[in-house]
Amino acid sequence: MTDSGRPSPPLDLILEKLSVSIPDPRMELDCSNAFELLVATVLSAQSTDRTVNAVTPGLFRRFPDARALSGGKPSEVEPLIRATGFFRRKSEQIVRLALAIQERFGGKVPPRMEDLVTLPGVGRKTASVVLAHGFGIPAVPVDTHVMRVSRRLSLTVSEDPERIEEDLKRQMPESSWISGSSRLLLHGRYVCLAKKPLCNSCVLSEICPSFPLFGSRPT
Ligand code: SF4
Repeated sequence: MTDSGRPSPPLDLILEKLSVSIPDPRMELDCSNAFELLVATVLSAQSTDRTVNAVTPGLFRRFPDARALSGGKPSEVEPLIRATGFFRRKSEQIVRLALAIQERFGGKVPPRMEDLVTLPGVGRKTASVVLAHGFGIPAVPVDTHVMRVSRRLSLTVSEDPERIEEDLKRQMPESSWISGSSRLLLHGRYVCLAKKPLCNSCVLSEICPSFPLFGSRPT
């Protein structure tokens, strides 16, 4: 069952409406290459993009690439990323990640899903973020926001991120995978909130099957 039990509106109509409220569906992590994006994505776990953006300039000044970070010690990294939380575990993780990239991929982040998911601590969602936003390769990253929005819009009946990814990919042309998934994510982050979705000011309120569960029409 979907969250509403009602049929989904077409995804192209949803994306057309979201293109009005989110004309520029850009990533909110500040990064200038795939390596920085990969590290920033790892740091964003249990943190916010704003916090990550505050620490990454200092981190990448000290460790500008995989080669530099692979030679660092977690204890050197810790003070640079402390604000993102879980900094001990994250420091170890990004040093191990850099080491694997350095040793197995010559210091370059590999632009293939099959390779990315072999890196330590890199799952399908992080790999998809790097493919889509680091390389411009069509991919659909499914995070908690995309999952919630997709279910509320009845775009999927699944709670499994891989199944949701497949469901979304099937419903949009490959050329829309990156912008479409970004719009769903940003819509979930700012409007279709987990606890109290802002249905009454949502551009999808007219077509959303979950509107009756959360919103109210003026009488
Ligand atoms: S109408 Fe409400 S539940 Fe539906 S997408 Fe908008 S905010 Fe989410």
